[in-house]
Amino acid sequence: MHRRLIAPGALVAALLLPAIPAFAAAPSPGAPGIGDPYYPYYGNGGYDVSHYDLRLRYQPATDELEGTATILARTTQDLSSFDLDFLLDVDEVRVNGVSASFASSGQHELVVTPRTPLAKDAPITVVVRYHGVPSTKSAYGFTTWHRTPDGAVAADEPESAWWWYPSNDHPLDKATYDVSVAVPDGTQAISNGTLQSTSSQAGWTRYAWRENKPQATYLTTLAVGRFDITTGTSEGGVPIVNAYSKDLGDNDGSARASVERTGELVDWLSGYFGPYPFSTAGGYVPNTTTGYALETQTRVYYSPKQFANGANTSVVVHELAHQWYGDSVSLKGWKDIWINEGFARYAQWLWSEHEGEGTTQQLADYVYDSHPADDAFWTVAPGDPGPDDQFDLAVYDRGALAIQALRNEIGDDAFFAVLKGWPHEHAYGNASVADFEAYAERVSGKSLSALFDTWLFQTSKPAAPAARTASISAASGPAARPKSWRRIAATNDLHASDLHAN
Ligand SMILES: [Zn+2]
Repeated sequence: MHRRLIAPGALVAALLLPAIPAFAAAPSPGAPGIGDPYYPYYGNGGYDVSHYDLRLRYQPATDELEGTATILARTTQDLSSFDLDFLLDVDEVRVNGVSASFASSGQHELVVTPRTPLAKDAPITVVVRYHGVPSTKSAYGFTTWHRTPDGAVAADEPESAWWWYPSNDHPLDKATYDVSVAVPDGTQAISNGTLQSTSSQAGWTRYAWRENKPQATYLTTLAVGRFDITTGTSEGGVPIVNAYSKDLGDNDGSARASVERTGELVDWLSGYFGPYPFSTAGGYVPNTTTGYALETQTRVYYSPKQFANGANTSVVVHELAHQWYGDSVSLKGWKDIWINEGFARYAQWLWSEHEGEGTTQQLADYVYDSHPADDAFWTVAPGDPGPDDQFDLAVYDRGALAIQALRNEIGDDAFFAVLKGWPHEHAYGNASVADFEAYAERVSGKSLSALFDTWLFQTSKPAAPAARTASISAASGPAARPKSWRRIAATNDLHASDLHAN
């Protein structure tokens, strides 16, 4: 979603200092990052979370959030201390029931030191009591906490958790969630998964949401505001929960005309990707001024602007495709973003073909022909774009072009077997671009390293012979612009133009 403004070089260098080998049993601090070279301080080392229980209370009038996070985890080393990623004010931390000391460090680290060291491979329970005004907190000079006239929203990529709950903030450490939020009566709280219960007491209503499948931290969302909640079931049997701000104004109709088709589109995508991986689906449209959409697990975040020009089913297809490509199968490192965005974009191309507005081949040819060789577009390698270009247009469009090249190389039978098999192969886990290449080679029985190198990793336009080999732009004369292009490109412009508002 965003151009990152940090210069990771120095941070990487610091993390790559050789660890001093200690005696095997000597406890040491957990690393302040999980080891992702794009974002050296995102996530943490030394433990693996299995479940977050978040019990919160939020007052929209003042933006005051208070809560208790109970985190179930398992240690992966002998630990003298460990970090959580978090920005709010901490009142108390307990580890296995015993109060622990804690201190803030760096941009978003909360360093927790238990009274006695923790042994490797042991279950731990960490309780963090906290409070604060999220809109007053920033890291690296930005915030992703969006206040609205009636509440607030946490939905952003790659970071949104720091403003509302302490976590091991990296997709490598997925966990299940219970998110219970008390808000003033007349206000609703939206999160991921299934609404287990609501209850009212003394002017406050509590919403208890549960996501029972592993979920990445950045895919965990919270929205508080005045919402109209709709429910239903898709023809294929997937329960649907959608929510619309009551203040969407002229965008209300087009938002509903798009998002109410979630069940139909989930079923349609299941034909390509296999069974829908979660126990519920849906989306929500809060009253934000942002421009983007985000594939928050089971409950997609849509900015009202996505629907300013009328209904847009293409963006709904994109975000729902992520439920398989990105949410159930998550990236291992942020360099693997092509697995998310290339395939979500390709799903939009499949939808375009289904709607008779341009075939995937026509869209691929158009991408190839409409960017001349000296266009900076080709300098971005979707297979490892670098943190500054992680959400560059090329990751989407060149990324989907690469998928069409793969399809033409291995043929439709193998291609659609890969498309459907991959989400099953790595369901609820993590995988990399290299894993995908190996999988596609296994299914197709072909060596694909040259193809992947040309279309995903070279920082120049694939030359005409390579394009002909991959049956890209084989017709004479430049490809015409497919009818669906404007709607698909509208999704992109919003992705690319939405910078952090400090
Ligand atoms: Zn996307």
